[in-house]
Amino acid sequence: MITKIIQEELIQKAKKYVEKGDSFVIVTHVSPDGDALGSSLGLYHFLTAYGKDNVSVIVPNAFPEFYRWMPGAKDIVVYEKYPDFAEQLLHEADVIFCLDFNDPKRVEKLAGPLLAADGRKVLIDHHLNPADFCRVQMSYPEMSSTSEMIFRFICRMGFFSLLNKETATCIYTGMMTDTGSFTYNSNKPEIYTIISELIKKGIDKDWIYRQVNQVYSESRLRMMGYMLYEKMKVYPELRTALITLSAEELGRFHYRAGDTEGFVNMPLDIKDVEFSAFLREDKDYIKISLRSVGDFPCNTFASTYFNGGGHKNASGGEFHGTLADAVARFEQGLQEFNPKKF
Ligand code: 5GP
Ligand code: MN
Repeated sequence: MITKIIQEELIQKAKKYVEKGDSFVIVTHVSPDGDALGSSLGLYHFLTAYGKDNVSVIVPNAFPEFYRWMPGAKDIVVYEKYPDFAEQLLHEADVIFCLDFNDPKRVEKLAGPLLAADGRKVLIDHHLNPADFCRVQMSYPEMSSTSEMIFRFICRMGFFSLLNKETATCIYTGMMTDTGSFTYNSNKPEIYTIISELIKKGIDKDWIYRQVNQVYSESRLRMMGYMLYEKMKVYPELRTALITLSAEELGRFHYRAGDTEGFVNMPLDIKDVEFSAFLREDKDYIKISLRSVGDFPCNTFASTYFNGGGHKNASGGEFHGTLADAVARFEQGLQEFNPKKF
């Protein structure tokens, strides 16, 4: 038995939109991760199985190659590539689902067209402090992933029988990636009840693991070796580690989107390192990724110093300036926010 987490009134309102709507758009956050794609494609396959034939997933920008295998991934509309088409879809949509983000800012340039669209908007998300921009807001930060919420949403509408293998595969991918393959944020027993149901729907969880985690290029592995050997700075007295990679260094290893995925978690393998940061020089800004174990609030650190946010143990942000200045800001933050004190 799975407990009823999502408020009944919200389920019934959204169910009405599902029943009555003809055209649907599903939107998720910039630089979509496994949960963003898993929840969006999971809902996409469900709505299709329900009989809706005008369903689109729109993402603000490209997603990593290692998610291309996901069923339906080829049909995703990338706003950066096809802005006019995406805006037309949004404009014509009866219902718009906003998945895995809590604020229109998280879809960047898509925010304008999203807010301007007249369709009924439904938020399904697990980030703290959602902005009020959807008619129906299902915001449950205690959930390990938005994909798990999609499972619950489908079941609570009474449509478990329509949850097919494609939907199940996408939902599992999101649940797996947002919990580091069930190594954090994953102690709730119901997660495993849900996985058991997904396996009964025919998913191959071992195969999914390999598609996501074991498909890297040789140069990615070599970059990882370089990063660990040359570029990881440990501050033992602060229980902290910092990784930086410049654009030049990324170029040396033929960097492609997704290649540095997981790097930020690695320093946490060191005994007594409880806070890890990764600063990567992207085209327009320095991308910041933060991770912690225990009570250190990465999200507060990200919002205080890097105009970002996220979860207690996984957050991110941006810095506009040089990599050296970003490091200086990080070190200043460490002085004020000593992880040892948490
Ligand atoms: P990642 O390090 O994998 O890019 O991001 C980890 C988590 O931090 C994301 O799931 C998201 O919740 C949050 N996050 C990452 N970048 C940003 C950002 O620029 N702004 C905000 N508000 N949150 C971010
Ligand atoms: Mn998520």
